Amino acid sequence: MVCALGIEGSANKIGVGIIKDGEVLANVRRTYITPPGEGFLPKETAKHHREAILGLVKASLKEAQLKHSDLDVICYTKGPGMAPPLLVGAIVARTLSLLWEIPLLGVNHCIGHIEMGRLITGAQNPIVLYVSGGNTQVIAYSNKRYRIFGETIDIAVGNCLDRFARIIKLSNDPSPGYNIEQLAKNSSRYIKLPYVVKGMDVSFSGILSYIEDLAEPGKRQNKRKKPQEAEVTDYTQADLCYSLQETIFAMLVEITERAMAHCGSNEVLIVGGVGCNERLQEMMRIMCEERGGKLFATDERYCIDNGLMIAHAGAEMFRSGTRMPLEEAFVTQRYRTDEVLVSWRDD
Ligand code: MG
Repeated sequence: MVCALGIEGSANKIGVGIIKDGEVLANVRRTYITPPGEGFLPKETAKHHREAILGLVKASLKEAQLKHSDLDVICYTKGPGMAPPLLVGAIVARTLSLLWEIPLLGVNHCIGHIEMGRLITGAQNPIVLYVSGGNTQVIAYSNKRYRIFGETIDIAVGNCLDRFARIIKLSNDPSPGYNIEQLAKNSSRYIKLPYVVKGMDVSFSGILSYIEDLAEPGKRQNKRKKPQEAEVTDYTQADLCYSLQETIFAMLVEITERAMAHCGSNEVLIVGGVGCNERLQEMMRIMCEERGGKLFATDERYCIDNGLMIAHAGAEMFRSGTRMPLEEAFVTQRYRTDEVLVSWRDD
């Protein structure tokens, strides 16, 4: 029996979750939402998290109907992410661990997403597409590591969506990606965009520059000739949202399918905040079904960053014997998925 409390704060969400032997007892979260046209900056995000975190710890214990003495381990996100918000979670976790005399574990954020997705969906050994504001990776498990088969070579897919939402001044509430998805539903007119797959990797920054020019013609000093200029100019914001989603999601489906073929797998699990986009899920489901495979996905409670996923991955680590000395209780902005020894899987 392992009862774990997890704290996640690597980006603009601060969340606390409690899990006991795979049973979800609490999952509370607050999101730092900035005005339209503005992204979230590290210092302000950390301030938001500092103000929310103790209330969330209390709320999680209340929701779980537990006392702190019922906890076996306190887990926090060690990285990757933005350092100032990550530090808020780490400092509070360290303090609670010392105060309550409960062991402390630092958890890799990406591993948290993967294990939470596997728990909720029951997927056994899927190809994992991890897509969010800070990450884009195609991952498969092999021999005690989650190995990265493909990834972005520049910005994350969610960052591309977030930044485009900022250009066209969409609301950040509940999230920029959600609002792009809704606006895209008003169009089925595809404006041709660059499609950038390089082997198993993808690139989004050039696509973003290109669509920025379409959204705000003449704003950037760009001498590059755009083939569209002569062809279409009467596109709407909805057309651009639709075309952006279709393009970048097709790229993700392509590299995921190639990983399935390579690994001989017929399961795909989508995790991360962009993973709740229903158009991405639909496109991935079509590809999976054409191959006789199956798609697994979760809703916003579990695919958007949350404390529960950190509690769950931490509980798996703890159960399999992982311990962390206090002097290792730091945070790191760069922490790759394949650095973690997956001690809790034997397959
Ligand atoms: Mg994430």
